[in-house]
Amino acid sequence: MDDGWVKMDLHSHSHYSYDGLSSPAELVKAASRSGIRILAVTDHGTVQGGKEAQEFAMARPELNVQVIVGQEVYVGKQDVVALFVYEDLPAYKAGQVETALSDIHEAGGLVYAVHPFGHERLAYGLSWRAFFRDVDAVEIHNACPVNLFANRQARTAHNLAWIDYGSSDIPVALASSDAHSVTAVGSSFTWFNGYTPDDLHQAIQSRRQQAFRLVRGYWSMRATANVFENWWKNRKNWPT
Ligand SMILES: [Zn+2]
Repeated sequence: MDDGWVKMDLHSHSHYSYDGLSSPAELVKAASRSGIRILAVTDHGTVQGGKEAQEFAMARPELNVQVIVGQEVYVGKQDVVALFVYEDLPAYKAGQVETALSDIHEAGGLVYAVHPFGHERLAYGLSWRAFFRDVDAVEIHNACPVNLFANRQARTAHNLAWIDYGSSDIPVALASSDAHSVTAVGSSFTWFNGYTPDDLHQAIQSRRQQAFRLVRGYWSMRATANVFENWWKNRKNWPT
């Protein structure tokens, strides 16, 4: 890639998530090894993993990783990622997605609609127009292999919205790993034409799609097996 482009991954989980396998420090080190320069740690229900990762990375400039603190916020059975938030957001009930989105924005955060068509999520139950107006970024590629078909739906939806509303009126499309272990970090990522988290905040907020280039991959067999084994072992902790 030309100068001025850095690799970033805006969706990852540490062991602060009920289903995460690695410590925040291990995630940062794995990002560094994969050449990821901007990593968002977005644990289920808490910003603690992100904060710890950020502290770890700031104390080790030689790793060359900048961490964005985030949280994957529960909204019923749907999850939405808040980026650039520093206080835990609560769990919202199904149907409260509009409240969740406005709380995230009020906290100064950006809304990253991850796997919008995964599982039972169906674009968060928002209307088509609301979905493409009220979120800031859409994950059109998630590297967890169960999202194979949901990724296709997300990509199609984003393309259609582009035709309907034009590129400056729709959220930017991004690809991320949704890593739950160090082995999945960097399996999918986005090139970003900028460097600092401030540049990134601005590029997302101004919906500058040309600042992003997506690299779409999937978790390896080993990473997938590790995570699913752990999910099953911890099934009593699954959110209801
Ligand atoms: Zn996630």
